[in-house]
Amino acid sequence: MSYTMRVLKETKEKNPGQPEFHQTLTEILPTLQPYLDEHQECEEAGILERIVEPERQVIFRVPWVDGSGKVQVNRGYRVQFNSAIGPYKGGIRFHPSVTLDTIKFLGFEQIFKNSLTGLPIGGGKGGSDFDPKGKSDREVMAFCQSFMNELYRHIGADTDVPAGDIGVGAREIGYVYGQYKKITGLVNGTFTGKALCYGGSLVRKEATGYGLVYFAEQMLASLKTTFEGKRVVVSGSGNVAIYAAEKAAQLGAKVLTFSDSNGYILDPAGVDIETVKLIKEKQRGRISEYVHHCKGAEYFDKGIVWQVPCDVALPCATQNEINEEHAKALIKNNCLAVAEGSNMSTTLDAVEQFQKSGILYAPGKAANAGGVAVSALEMAQNSSRFFWSFEEVDKKLQGIMQSIYRQVSDTAEHYATKNDLVAGANIGGFIKVCEVMLLQGVI
Ligand code: NDP
Repeated sequence: MSYTMRVLKETKEKNPGQPEFHQTLTEILPTLQPYLDEHQECEEAGILERIVEPERQVIFRVPWVDGSGKVQVNRGYRVQFNSAIGPYKGGIRFHPSVTLDTIKFLGFEQIFKNSLTGLPIGGGKGGSDFDPKGKSDREVMAFCQSFMNELYRHIGADTDVPAGDIGVGAREIGYVYGQYKKITGLVNGTFTGKALCYGGSLVRKEATGYGLVYFAEQMLASLKTTFEGKRVVVSGSGNVAIYAAEKAAQLGAKVLTFSDSNGYILDPAGVDIETVKLIKEKQRGRISEYVHHCKGAEYFDKGIVWQVPCDVALPCATQNEINEEHAKALIKNNCLAVAEGSNMSTTLDAVEQFQKSGILYAPGKAANAGGVAVSALEMAQNSSRFFWSFEEVDKKLQGIMQSIYRQVSDTAEHYATKNDLVAGANIGGFIKVCEVMLLQGVI
């Protein structure tokens, strides 16, 4: 049995009942074999056995009092996966579906993603099964403060720097950072995704979505085409979806859809992004409300955006949102490229369909790395007490996404096939972490 298959088997056995963690291991580990065949020293140093085991996992109680005076208890997590190349870095997710399994899969992906950015950041992730949806601001604040009453002792500007993710936007970051500051007395860059008025970076809000489109632009360029005139289908209607759609539209594409966990809207004239921002960012409403603002648009509470014919598909909601059947629909409708804004958007059998069909497919760890890249730029600005203009940060983001694309496609060409961006991203992200782990000894 090969080194990667042995570690895959052992790690699955050691971590029963964690299907999402198993899924990311199954996607990543086997693709590393060609590199490991050339570097026997990795097996001798137990690199894989170490990289699949988080350096530290913290699980904690989060008690808080709701608006009716009732005590609620949620569970909080922070998984500090790998700090070989820098402080742990990765978002915090608040969603009722969050378990240790979710946080481990996200944290493992984050190691490779952060390495691909070329910036000195290790991998981690955190969150809670708390659902901010339908809660008052006061309830969200009470929860965030309690969450931080435990988390603060595990994080720091030079050790572990959380950010946002599903359910954690500017409001939640404000509350958790405020409590962190209150407890520690420190005003520093322990969180990224902060509002501009207290240390945030320009372009951080837009970074994941814009970065996704800059990456997809490179994919289209490899087919000698551009976003101009393309039909783009977007899922989700949160932070990543909105800014991916905005950038695609700026590049001349027509964005047809947005969705949430209840249904999706289709606007044949091209979605009006400002209306979506108004509904989602200002009113905290549901995407179904879009049809009351824009004539000609339709709302569907059945079906899925992947059935809508398109040239480019940008999944921006959550993991496993594209299954085999959805992949087949995209292929049948002659979609050219799928780039993941959400983490692990695609099930393993759907990835297989994409790879068999020849459609261009980019995994999230490469395509959505723009968010964490600009987070690292926020950390740099916080340390230096300097601020860069929107144009400066946006230019750096573009440069980083282009460089990730080159690194991923060159690595793919060397170790697999040119368009195997899955192998390219996995091996490309692995190499630096592996080299550093070898240099730092068995720790
Ligand atoms: P938001 O919370 O802003 O938005 C999430 C969107 O996805 C909402 O429209 C939500 O709908 C929808 N969604 C969430 N869960 C489900 C589900 N189970 N089924 C259907 N729809 C769902 O999150 P973000 O935009 O920040 O994150 C989206 C994805 O991008 C995640 O996978 C995240 O890990 C990834 N990502 C985010 C980064 C960032 O910088 N924010 C960086 C890199 C990756 P509803 O309101 O109904 O729940």
